[in-house]
Amino acid sequence: MMLTDLAKTARDAGLKVVEVDGWKTRGRPGEMIAIKTITCHHTANGGAKGNYPSMNTVKNGRPDVPGPLAQLGLGVDGTVYVIAAGVCNHAGVSLKTDYDKRHAIGIEAEAVGVPGAKGDWPEVQMVAYAKLCAALVKRYRLDVEDVRAHKETCSPKGRKSDPSFDMKAFRLRVAKLLIAPPKPKPVEELMAGIEWTTKVALTETDAAVWNLHGGLPKPGQKAFKRGDTVTLSDMIRYPTLARRMDMKLNAIIATLKAQGLVVADTNKDIEELAKKLLADDETDV
Ligand SMILES: [Zn+2]
Repeated sequence: MMLTDLAKTARDAGLKVVEVDGWKTRGRPGEMIAIKTITCHHTANGGAKGNYPSMNTVKNGRPDVPGPLAQLGLGVDGTVYVIAAGVCNHAGVSLKTDYDKRHAIGIEAEAVGVPGAKGDWPEVQMVAYAKLCAALVKRYRLDVEDVRAHKETCSPKGRKSDPSFDMKAFRLRVAKLLIAPPKPKPVEELMAGIEWTTKVALTETDAAVWNLHGGLPKPGQKAFKRGDTVTLSDMIRYPTLARRMDMKLNAIIATLKAQGLVVADTNKDIEELAKKLLADDETDV
């Protein structure tokens, strides 16, 4: 299995992504078997300058370890470099199969990696690191506990020290990103204080716009004039006027929601819905 949607996964998470030439076919011989772990590393760059000075090493390997050394690189500024889609030499001997290179995606984040090193782990990089891990957890239906540090997966324990930050705090950060966003407020709450019969007095301009857009004057009246009132029901029929009056588009949306109609938040969609409403119920004036 080649992980050819890594770039899309990162991009969809709102991250800045650089696709390194040839990444979709780059990897060690053999295949990824299944994704069970996201393994966090640091590059230990010795203080090299630049956003991702370890690119060549991660892509091509070191004299003692052939590359690629990780599927993903993470620059100091949070840019995600997509380097390989196949098996990468990032895990080494691991405590269990789920942690090995055929079951774990490796992320090599640029850092000196010595605890307290100046310039390591700027907030922008940590935010991106957490976002990237959260996106991968979602994509591969993993648990936040499957985000592991190399220092937690290596065998024997203590063989590795990367990455040089606290993983419990980091996983908490990832977990927060994975919590579903709050549900929208119930319609009742949106509807509070809004009535179909809410009346709005027209200004002179409003009346002119209302007439222009084919509002229906009362019987015996040729056109609307200043001071006439219209209801929310009218508003839904004539959203252009509603907008002109800055008349609580939210109220209109809430009303449409309350009627079980598809909810949309753009003026254009409201106009569409208003048209449907008009077609469905000619008598509702
Ligand atoms: Zn490592």
